Formats: sequence, C-alpha cells, structure tokens
Amino acid sequence: ALSLRNVIKRYGHGPKANQVIHGVSAEIADHEFIVIVGPSGCGKSTLLRMVAGLEEISAGEISIGKRVVNNLEPSERDIAMVFQNYALYPHMSVFKNMAYGLKIAKVPVPEIKVRVDKAAKILELGHLLERKPRELSGGQRQRVAMGRAIVRQPQVFLFDEPLSNLDAKLRAQTRIEIQKLHRELGITSLFVTHDQVEAMTLAQRIIVMNAGVMDQFATPEEVYNRPATTFVASFIGSPP
Ligand code: ATP
Ligand code: MG
Repeated sequence: ALSLRNVIKRYGHGPKANQVIHGVSAEIADHEFIVIVGPSGCGKSTLLRMVAGLEEISAGEISIGKRVVNNLEPSERDIAMVFQNYALYPHMSVFKNMAYGLKIAKVPVPEIKVRVDKAAKILELGHLLERKPRELSGGQRQRVAMGRAIVRQPQVFLFDEPLSNLDAKLRAQTRIEIQKLHRELGITSLFVTHDQVEAMTLAQRIIVMNAGVMDQFATPEEVYNRPATTFVASFIGSPP
C-alpha cells in the first residue's frame, strides 16, 4: 500500500515560501493503478517527486508498504520512476541500460540476466538487447526505459507523463503495453498524464488535482458521472 497523509509542500522558506501542495491525503491499495490529472502547475510532478524522495515534504507523512519513507533516500524507497525524458545511456546496449541499476545495487550477475531477459520478453525487446539507443525507435526507447524500471521489481511505479513525447499511434501502443505490464506484474502505479483518454483507459482510480488540492479521488466512472466540484466537471468535460 501507498499512503499520503496530509502532505504539504512549500518551495522556499520564510515569508517568500510558496505552498504548492495543500494537505493531500490518499490511501492506495496494493496493485492499484492510479492516474493523476490536472492542469499545468497544479502539483502533479511535485507529488510524484515527493513519493520518489526527489523532493522533501514540508509536512505530513508518506508511507510505502509498512514503512514511513519521509526520511529515506530515493534508493531506499523501493520505487522506480519513468520520466518523460527517459535518458538512456547512449554508449550502452539495451541490455546494459536495463542492467545498470541492478549492477549498481550489486545484484548477482546471473540474477541480473534472468530479470533483464524476463522484462525484455514482456516488453518485446528480446531481439534488440544488443542494440544501442540511437538504433531504436522512440517507442522502443520508451520500452527500454520501462524495462529499466521493471527489473528493479519495485513496490511502486511512478510515471510522469512518460508517453508525451510519442506520436498518437505510439502512445496508443505503449498504453496497451503498460496495461499488459500491469496485468502481468500488478505493481502499484501512480501515472501522471494530461491525456484524458489515457487517464480514462488506464486508471482504476483517478486523482484530480486543482492548484495543489486533491479535488476528487474516485473511479473514472464516478469522476465522469459525479464530479465532486465544478472544476472537476469542467476539467473532465462532463456536465456539472
Ligand atoms: P505540468 O503539468 O506543467 O508538468 P505539474 O502539475 O507537474 O505541471 P509541478 O511541476 O508539480 O506542476 O509544479 C507545481 C507548482 O510548483 C508550480 O507552480 C511550479 O511553478 C512550482 N514549482 C515546481 N518546482 C519548483 C521548484 N523547484 N522551486 C519552486 N517552485 C517550484
Ligand atoms: Mg509535471
């Protein structure tokens, strides 16, 4: 499980501090796929970065599994993050890109091979393992970035608009890939997107953020049919 309890974020200190997350609470069950939507600047990335440990929280509590992670380093949190600008190592093969984090974590070599091969199979990258990133299409590179996250076998996956650099067709394909991945591995996921279709098709529940406040946290059907605020109604595009 992943819990946020009254999480607050301020950037800066003293009178110039700018509060951007105003007490967000959410209980996310194991294996749930949660999509976070909301306008630019509403705090989606900040929220993910706090869960990842890339950004300190100003108040409140975040726990992953049974552990409060507030004071844990990103590497200690059992999470993996897939960004929009998935920087792969250009000089390394696909295999090495996927294996790198495990090597750093001192996972034994035979175990690395097993995990990378399994991820490559799921992502249909098996025939590309010896290629360099520049010899791949955008969608294939995105799949390598996901592979790099999968092999870590994290408790929680964090996706920050991972598909926004892809064209419409690739987005749709990769979306299906992500659904398949979630069915097979069942990793608890937080997925940020601007795309309503992506949100509606991927989410088991949706968090609608509005200026640092969680306006609604509910199933896609509920959000669509019974928007909690006029903001949600206008943002999701259903009648108020
Ligand atoms: P987008 O959809 O454009 O990616 P977002 O919802 O991810 O937006 P955040 O990046 O979380 O938004 O930003 C939330 C607010 O916090 C914004 O007002 C932003 O200007 C501010 N902010 C983000 N990072 C910092 C920072 N490092 N220092 C100060 N303010 C920041
Ligand atoms: Mg963002």
